[in-house]
Amino acid sequence: MVASQEPLVLPPNVSKSAFGDFISACREATGDNVTVISSASQIEDGDYMKPNYTHDPHHVLKQDFFLASAVIAPRNVADVQGIVRAANKHKVPLWPISIGRNSGYGGAAPRVSGSVVINMGKHMNKILEVNVEGAYCLVEPGVTFHDLHQYLVDNNLRDKLWLDVPDLGGGSILGNTLERGVGYTPYGDHFMMHSGMEIVLPSGELMRTGMGALPHPQQKEGARPEDQPWNETSQLFNYGFGPYVDGLFTQSNLGITTKMGMWLMPNPGGYQSYLITIPREEDLKQAVDIIRPLRLGMILQNVPTLRHILLDAAVMGHKSDYTSDISKPLDDAELDAIAEKLNLGRWNFYGALYGPEPIRNAMWGVVKQAFSSIPGAKFYFPEDRKEKDSVLHMRHKTMQGIPTFDELRWVSWLPNGSHLFFSPIAKVNGEDATAQFAVTKARCREAGLDFIGTFTIGMREMHHIVCIVFDRKNEVQKKKAHWLIKTLIDDCAKRGWGEYRTHLAVMDQIMDTYSFNDSIFRKFNEQIKNAVDPNGIIAPGKSGVWPKQYNRDEWKL
Ligand SMILES: Cc1cc2nc3c(=O)[nH]c(=O)nc-3n(C[C@H](O)[C@H](O)[C@H](O)COP(=O)(O)OP(=O)(O)OC[C@H]3O[C@@H](n4cnc5c(N)ncnc54)[C@H](O)[C@@H]3O)c2cc1C
Repeated sequence: MVASQEPLVLPPNVSKSAFGDFISACREATGDNVTVISSASQIEDGDYMKPNYTHDPHHVLKQDFFLASAVIAPRNVADVQGIVRAANKHKVPLWPISIGRNSGYGGAAPRVSGSVVINMGKHMNKILEVNVEGAYCLVEPGVTFHDLHQYLVDNNLRDKLWLDVPDLGGGSILGNTLERGVGYTPYGDHFMMHSGMEIVLPSGELMRTGMGALPHPQQKEGARPEDQPWNETSQLFNYGFGPYVDGLFTQSNLGITTKMGMWLMPNPGGYQSYLITIPREEDLKQAVDIIRPLRLGMILQNVPTLRHILLDAAVMGHKSDYTSDISKPLDDAELDAIAEKLNLGRWNFYGALYGPEPIRNAMWGVVKQAFSSIPGAKFYFPEDRKEKDSVLHMRHKTMQGIPTFDELRWVSWLPNGSHLFFSPIAKVNGEDATAQFAVTKARCREAGLDFIGTFTIGMREMHHIVCIVFDRKNEVQKKKAHWLIKTLIDDCAKRGWGEYRTHLAVMDQIMDTYSFNDSIFRKFNEQIKNAVDPNGIIAPGKSGVWPKQYNRDEWKL
């Protein structure tokens, strides 16, 4: 090979010499921002703060099961286009990521081993605009929630604008939104709050969506398309004219997104977080039925969370802090003891009130009255909770858009803690939620693992986030975790419950459950894929959508 090393794994059906030519072309196109994964010593699990780009650090299969052949970090849109052109020429699959902290869903790893990871965030990390009047920002892939929050702080803008953040601040605003991720202020549905994307298509052409398709009347003469100013309504109205295509670029494999607009929340002029502890596990039904009308009526203004005791316990300690035998799941008596020790309920509801004091007081009156019908429910504001590592103090920040890293602690519930997310959608209905919880809890126990989970409450549904924590050095436990997620997918599909997002290892299985009318949804997506990306170079297999070059039945896991 010319001017490159041999990777540990080649992309499928790509010869060593074609790969070498591709790498040479990319070195030239990107100013040598190319790392070939040629040695096992490059495969380090690392940690959240220092993400790797080679494989999934939370590997539920073999550590190198999903392995990149190389990582390329473009400096700008032209570099991305150069990479895409070379990939088309040499038929090399690419796997674009922004920051690569897609923890629990595969990290930065590609679905097809040998794919080349495109690290969009390393150099393309500018906050291009924060517009106070319109309450929005325009960012590149490498801008993290933490970065933008810091920008607001540094520029004394927090009194005007807040950013919505997920549990952890280190993710990419753009990457998280492309995964249709969730945060916890009133702007918690990130895809709903985005406005305008710029995308390098599989052909290498550059497109802006929504109002971004309408040129700004003052074009910069001689400038490249990506350097042209955006139409001034691009970040204000996301639908634009004609077919609305933005959704096609989420959880998908149709392009590489280079910029995105995002709405910021005007500072509401007052804020109060709270915790309601709910004593018994079976209170879940009543609690969810209380939540539904409040959320629908927007008395619950944000994305509140109804967390199982063990999620909070895991943030506050390791499993070994609560039991001498970490090899088996905790039983109900132990869960009660933990709840008592931590002065929490079996369920704990974290919400917030936004607006001037009279508005907050009125809302709180309604919320408190509704939850008071649960015998033994208790109500707390942050100043009422004095314990170390209080989850309310942590949520107090998150629900006002201040990023933290505290939630990372639950991943260390077990030694060598790793995790998979199982994330089905539930109705905001007590019976449905109770049934879904019962199925997941029973299967977790069967797998010898604890149920650790939360319901995050959207406008009309709940993301039931089950955190499957396992010891990645324990092969038996890894197998059980894999069995667990596969079994839960089938259990849930039988009951009409589907997942909103998933890990690489089960994308095909989940796509197979979305099978209405002879799997027309998958087939339609495959048609689009093959039309837009005839060489099948962008993220083959993402979300179970395979281009024609790959025999889906052979690739399915
Ligand atoms: C303790 C803990 C708590 C968490 N809490 C939350 C939470 O509250 N909400 C939540 O949503 N998630 C949560 N996560 C999951 C995850 O950490 C975040 O969603 C994170 O933001 C995703 O990683 P990222 O932003 O680095 O995205 P990336 O890993 O960069 O991207 C994710 C995926 O999007 C696609 N993509 C990214 N960039 C591009 C691009 N430029 N072009 C084309 N495709 C692209 C790729 O398919 C990529 O694999 C949590 C994880 C942990 C460990």
